[in-house]
Amino acid sequence: MGGKEKQLAIGIDLGTTYSCVAVWRHGAVEIIANDQGNRTTPSYVAFNECERLIGDAAKNQAAINSSNTIFDAKRLIGRKFYDEAVQRDIKHWPFKVVHPEVDDKKPRIMVTFKGDKKYFTAEEISGMVLSKMKDIAEAYLGTNVKNAVVTVPAYFNNLQRQATKDAASIAGLNVMRIINEPTAAAIAYGLHNKASVGKTMNVLVFDLGGGTFDVSLFTIENYNFEVKSVSGDTHLGGEDFDNRLVSYCVTEFKRKHYKDISTNSRAIGRLRAACERAKRILSSASVTTIDIDCLYDGIDFSSRVTRTRFEKLSMDLFENCIAPVEKCLKDAKMVVEDLHEIVLVGGSTRIPKIQELLQDFFKGKQLCKGINPDEAVAHGAAAHAAVLSCVDDENFVFVDVTPFSLGIENDTGNMSVLIPRNTQIPVMQDMLFTTTEDNQTEIDFNVYEGDNRIASENNLLGTFALSGIPPAMKGIANVKVWFEINVDGIMKCYAQDESSGSKNGITISYHSGSLTKEEVDRMLREAEIYRYEDEQYKEKVRLMNELENYAEEMRCMVKSKNIELNDKRKMEDAIDHTEQWLDWNYLHTESSKFKNKLKELESVCLPIISKMYEHFDADYIMSDSNVIEID
Ligand code: AMP
Repeated sequence: MGGKEKQLAIGIDLGTTYSCVAVWRHGAVEIIANDQGNRTTPSYVAFNECERLIGDAAKNQAAINSSNTIFDAKRLIGRKFYDEAVQRDIKHWPFKVVHPEVDDKKPRIMVTFKGDKKYFTAEEISGMVLSKMKDIAEAYLGTNVKNAVVTVPAYFNNLQRQATKDAASIAGLNVMRIINEPTAAAIAYGLHNKASVGKTMNVLVFDLGGGTFDVSLFTIENYNFEVKSVSGDTHLGGEDFDNRLVSYCVTEFKRKHYKDISTNSRAIGRLRAACERAKRILSSASVTTIDIDCLYDGIDFSSRVTRTRFEKLSMDLFENCIAPVEKCLKDAKMVVEDLHEIVLVGGSTRIPKIQELLQDFFKGKQLCKGINPDEAVAHGAAAHAAVLSCVDDENFVFVDVTPFSLGIENDTGNMSVLIPRNTQIPVMQDMLFTTTEDNQTEIDFNVYEGDNRIASENNLLGTFALSGIPPAMKGIANVKVWFEINVDGIMKCYAQDESSGSKNGITISYHSGSLTKEEVDRMLREAEIYRYEDEQYKEKVRLMNELENYAEEMRCMVKSKNIELNDKRKMEDAIDHTEQWLDWNYLHTESSKFKNKLKELESVCLPIISKMYEHFDADYIMSDSNVIEID
C-alpha cells in the first residue's frame, strides 16, 4: 500500500443514544474519552437561552429543558415526516417534530434557541453530534482531523446512508467510508480474537443498541470478512424498552393520583431518565425503585419495579429480536450448528432476558461477551480507517452485502428485482426493459428497495426518466438499466436505449429525500456560525467569571481594616453596582462590555488597594517584630 500519504483518520460510531470515537495509533486502537472522561458521549444536543450544548452537557440538563433537548436524531435521519415509524416516535419525544414548510417531506425538529424558534433536520443535529466527536478526537490527538469512517446500522437504506454522509459533511468531516456497524464489530472481534487466525469462523454479530437492531452473519478467514447475510430492525432498541417502562409509570401515576402526565414533557423527560436508569439496574439486580420528587403537580412518584415486571412489559419486543436471527441464518443457508461464535454488541445486549432468549435459540451455546459492547463498533471503524489511510499495515478485506432487494416497478406494479437482497457489494447489475405503448419515446423508472412483491409497498428511492427512444411498436425498444452500488453501499442508476445509444436525460435523483449539495453547503456554513457562537459564548462565560471573581476578591479586600472608611464606601458601591449589573446583564451582553466593566471596577479598586499596600509596607518596615495583623 505504498505511495499514499499517511493521515490520521478516526472511526466514529454514531449511535442513537451514545456515540463513540476511536483512533488507531501505535499498532492498536485507542478509544478516545471525552472532556468528562467518558468513553462514550450521549448523542444529545440541547438549546437554551444562551448556548448550544452537545453530549454530556446536553444530556445532564435534559430533565429541566426537555422540549429543547434533542436525542434520537438517528431515528429520524433519512426518513419522511409521514413515515409510520416517525409518527410513532413523535408521540414519545418531549421535543417537537413538525412537518416541513418546504416540499422535501423531511421532518423538522423545532426548538427555542436564544428566544427564537429554530428548525433543524436530523442531519443537522447528527452533524452537531459528529462535530463534537471530531472535537473530542482533535483535543486528544492535538491535531486537526478531517478523515473518518462512520458506521451505520446494516439495515439502513440508501437514503439513511446518504443522510448520514450529509451529516458528516455538515460536521466538516470527509467520510472515507460508511461501514455497517456489525461489520465494524466483526473487525473488532477479528482483531481481538487472534486465536482464530488461520481458521474459518462463522460469526454472528447480534447488535442491539439504543434505537436500532442489526444481525449480521460473517465468515471470517484470517482478515477477510465476508458478510453472508444481514437482517434487523432500524426501529428496535433500548429506547423502546424505556418507553414501555415510561408507559407503565404513567398508568401507575394515573391509577394512584388520577392525573394524566403523558402530555407534560418535563414530567415525561424526568420519568424517561429514571426509567432508563432503572432498566440498566435491572440487568444486574432483580428489583429496583423508580423515585422522582415532585414529578407532577407537586406529587412525588415512587414505584417498585421487578426484573420480571420489566421483562413482561417488553417481552414482545425481546421476542422480536429472534426472528431476524432466524432470517439471517436462513439467508446464509446455515443452521445453528454451523456458527462458531455469537458476538454481542450494543448496550441492550446486557439485558439478561435477551441473552437467555438468544442462548435458548442457539441451543445453550455460550455467547461471546469478550469485547466491550459499547466500544466494539468504534473500535472496528478506527481499525478500518487506519487501513484506508495507510496508517496500519494490517489489511482487511471486506465483502459486504445489500440489506434489501433493489429493483424497478414494472408495468404490472410489481418489483423487477435487479439486485436481490444479500448480494455482495460492490456490484453492478443490469436488466432489459422495453416500451409498453406504441410510439412511446419516454420511459419513467421508479427505483425501489425492499422485499415486497408489490413495488409501491417498498421504499421509493427515486424516479428518473429516459427520453429520446425512437418511436416504434410497443415491446420493440431495448432499454438497458444498470444499478451500481459502491463500497459505501450507495447506489446509482442509469438507463440506455440500445438502438439509438441515447443515454440522455437519465439521472436518478441521487439526493431525492436527502440533502442537495447547496443545502449541505448552507448547513455547513450555519454549523460554522453555531460553532463560532459557541466559542463566543465560552469566551463570554470566561470573562463573566473573571469579573465575578474579581468582584468577590475585592469584597474580601474591603473587609480589611487597613482601608480608609471613604475608600471602603467607594469600593463597596462599585462592587454592588458591578454585581447588580451582572445579575441583570450577563445573559445578553457582548463580551466587550464585560471587559469594560472589569476595567471600570479596577479603576476604582486598584488605586485604593495600592494605597493600602503602601501603608502596609510602611507599617511593616517600621514594626519591630515584623508581625502584622490584618483580618
Ligand atoms: P448503544 O446504542 O450501543 O450505545 O446502546 C445504548 C442502549 O443500551 C441504551 O438504550 C441503554 O439504555 C442500553 N444499555 C446500556 N447499558 C445497559 C444495561 N446494563 N442494561 C440494559 N440496557 C443497557
